This record gives sequence, structure tokens and C-alpha cells, in this order.
Amino acid sequence: MNKLDNPVNPQEIKQSGMQVSNVMADEFGIDIPAEAVPLPSRGVIYSSGGALYGKETIDIKPMTAREEDILTSRAYIKNGTVISKLIESCLIDKSINTEDLISGDRNALMIALRITGYGSEYSADVSCPECGKSSKCDFDLSQLPIKRLQIDPVEVGQNVFEVQLPVTKKNIKVKFLTGHDEREMLLTSERKKKHGLSQDSAVTDRLKQSILSIDDITDKNKINFFVNNMPARDSLALRRFLDNNEPGVDMKAHMQCSHCFEESEVDLPLGPTFFWPDA
Ligand SMILES: [Zn+2]
Repeated sequence: MNKLDNPVNPQEIKQSGMQVSNVMADEFGIDIPAEAVPLPSRGVIYSSGGALYGKETIDIKPMTAREEDILTSRAYIKNGTVISKLIESCLIDKSINTEDLISGDRNALMIALRITGYGSEYSADVSCPECGKSSKCDFDLSQLPIKRLQIDPVEVGQNVFEVQLPVTKKNIKVKFLTGHDEREMLLTSERKKKHGLSQDSAVTDRLKQSILSIDDITDKNKINFFVNNMPARDSLALRRFLDNNEPGVDMKAHMQCSHCFEESEVDLPLGPTFFWPDA
């Protein structure tokens, strides 16, 4: 009988003395510890039975040279999956789909990875809100506060929240955007740009993607029509609801301008030096 026809049995291979070894630990004596990253969402919005449900923390391994390959992959950069692939590569639990994570949880993981890879010091160019001039500022990524989920979803295990609009009195169901949503929005805006429709629609795009239903209407075209024509005060209330309640990392930081010496609060810029400190 030809042995090659037999299916491979991994148990047999193990018994026959072929070993799976941790080369970094066994050969080089380098023990790479896993680290638990707190999830701002506390896992309560992920479907029960899934890998993310009820997770207060997620274990990651620190970035290595392999992750630097991912960061420079043109294909991943082009299709908008570079951060997902980076996070995926560092998660210990491979059953987690990183695109299912909401943006705030993804940001927490991204910042933790940057710290494990290159440390918590981060220098970036920021333009001063007072004088408009740009200056180099130093930030400490380990000091960014985590904003944990404070409100209850409509049901535990669902990324669905309810809010009533002040003017039209409509009951709106919204979700916090996930990696899927962000990628969809990125591809849509690129398609628009290609067709010369480069008008800025960041506000309505985000609302359209976040709204799941208006009263009981779930039809996407009707929702989009409502968003384009809703009173500004309702739009503002909805954006405030999302901003105030979305769990994530508080990316606000203090800067002192090197030109006018004014101190201001700015949004931490996620520029090219975020993962390439010496670039
Ligand atoms: Zn200034």
C-alpha cells in the first residue's frame, strides 16, 4: 500500500517525534509576553456566543518585524484593511474577526500595539488652533484615558442604542461603527472622488451609516433621505449622542504652541509617524 495515499494524522506526526516548537523561546531564549488590552465596549455589544461577547480585555502579542511587513503592504493600504490585518496578526485568539470590532475598541488595540512596538512617546506635527501654525508636539500614548461604555444597549449582545430626537420626536436606533462600516465608508468616498463628486459629506455619511431605523422604518434609501433633510437641531442632538456615548480612547491632548506659546486642547493626530516613529 502506498503510504502517500493515507491522510495525514497530526497526532501520529507528534508521536513520531516531530515537534512543534516555539523557536523564539526555545532557541533564542526570548520570551514574548502577551498583554491584556482593556476593551472600551466591555464586550457587551457583541453577539452572545461570539468570541468577543463579554470580553473586558483582549490578549495581544507585541508587534514584530512581521507586522512591519503588514504596515507597508500596498495591497492592504489600498483596500483599507491595513489596521485590521495588523490587529489580526497580533491577536492571540484567532477566532476574532477584527472588522467586527467597533472603532473605539480598534483604537484601543491600535494604541496598545504602538506602545508594545515602539514605546509610548509619540511626536507629531499639530497645527495650533490659535495661530494656525504647525509645530512638533510630544504626546504620551500611555496617558490617554479610556472611555468605557456607560449606557445600556437596547439588548445585551447587540450593538443597538435608542435615542429620541428633540424636534421631530422620532425614535432612532443607532449603532457604533465597526471596522466593516469604516471600510465601506472609505470605499464609498473613494468612489465618489473618482466620479468627481468630492463634496464634503462627512457629517451625513456618518449618520447614514450609524442609523439602523427611524421609528420602524429600516429601508436604507428612506433613512438616507431623512438624514439629508432632518432639522439641524436633530442632527446635532444625534451627533452629540454618538460622540458622548461612543466608547473608545479619549484622543484629546494638550499642546503648547512653539510660535505663540498658547496652550490648547487638540485631537491627537494619527499621522504617518504613528507606526513609524523615525519616519
Ligand atoms: Zn500658536
